[in-house]
Formats: sequence, C-alpha cells, structure tokens
Amino acid sequence: ETQRRLLLERIRDVPDHPKPGVVFKDITPLLADPAALAVVTDILAALCRRHGATKVAGLEARGFILAAPAAVRAGIGFIPVRKAGKLPGATLAQSYELEYGTAEIELHAEDLGPSDRVLVIDDVLATGGTAEASLRLIRRTGADVAGLAVLMELAFLAGRRRLDPALEAAPLEVL
Ligand code: IMP
Repeated sequence: ETQRRLLLERIRDVPDHPKPGVVFKDITPLLADPAALAVVTDILAALCRRHGATKVAGLEARGFILAAPAAVRAGIGFIPVRKAGKLPGATLAQSYELEYGTAEIELHAEDLGPSDRVLVIDDVLATGGTAEASLRLIRRTGADVAGLAVLMELAFLAGRRRLDPALEAAPLEVL
C-alpha cells in the first residue's frame, strides 16, 4: 500500500497538455525513478502470474514501456498493439470511435492464438476506447484476455463503464 502510494506520487499532472483544459497524467517521473520502475514492474509481473497470462500486450506507446519489462520479469512474451500502419507483417485491425472521428489499432496476427491468455497493459484508462478495441482485437486471434492492467483510471471519463461489456469476465486491475 505504501509502495502504491509512492508510485502514484510519481505520476505528474501537466495542465493544458496536449491541449487547453486537459490535465495530462505524465508517468515519466515514475519511469525515471529506478525504485518506482522496479516496483511497478514487479506488480505487473505478479498480475501476469496471478491471472495465468502467457503473453503481455502493451498499448502504444506508454503501454510498451510498462509491458515489456513486466513480460521479461514474468518470463513470457511481449506483443505490441500498434496504431494502424506501423507493423510490417500481416495484421489484424480493429477500429473504434473517438470523440471526433475514428482510430484503428493493429497487431501481428501470427503472434497470438487460441493457446494464449493475454494480460493487456497501458498507463492510463481514459475514455476506455483504446482498451476496449484492444480486448476485441486480441480475442479475434482466438486468444483469451487474462485481464487489463493500468496504473491510473480517469474516473470522470467513465472508461470503466464503456469497457465493461468488452471485459466480459476479465478483471480490470488499477494500481
Ligand atoms: P482512451 O481515451 O482510454 O482510449 O485513452 C487513449 C490513450 O490515451 C490511452 O492509450 C492512454 O494511455 C492515453 N491517455 C489518455 N489520457 C491520458 C493522460 O492523461 N495521460 C497519459 N495518457 C493518457
């Protein structure tokens, strides 16, 4: 509990980023602190084990930074879930609604299959759109979703409510 509080203290509020009126949650102070980075890696790796994950998926871009060391620590593989057009191989794509317009994410289809259970990791749950799309995308490979783990939830955006149907029975873990 003290450890968790220490981590949350390392997430900084940046007003008016990336645009006026938005308070951006910035995890770079946490990443720069070796003790905090080790604790967050241990917590995420423990979640992998608890939920029986065989792979860790990181959501571009800050999810990559958190998920890759957790995968190493848990002794399982890492899957990047990327914005459309970045991955060179054969991809599966999932589009989703933004406040204005749509976005699309992709993964390499060959990296996941029915024998996998995937823990999905991102830094911040905001509206939940990205996480919702990633859960659907992962299940389309035949893999199971072991859970979704984020450091923080912006509760006022009600991402949890949007996400709930897509979670199915999978747990949402908020540090
Ligand atoms: P969504 O609205 O939940 O789909 O969030 C979209 C993406 O933006 C996620 O990958 C989040 O990591 C990121 N995001 C949204 N708000 C913040 C923030 O305040 N700090 C850091 N990342 C954010």
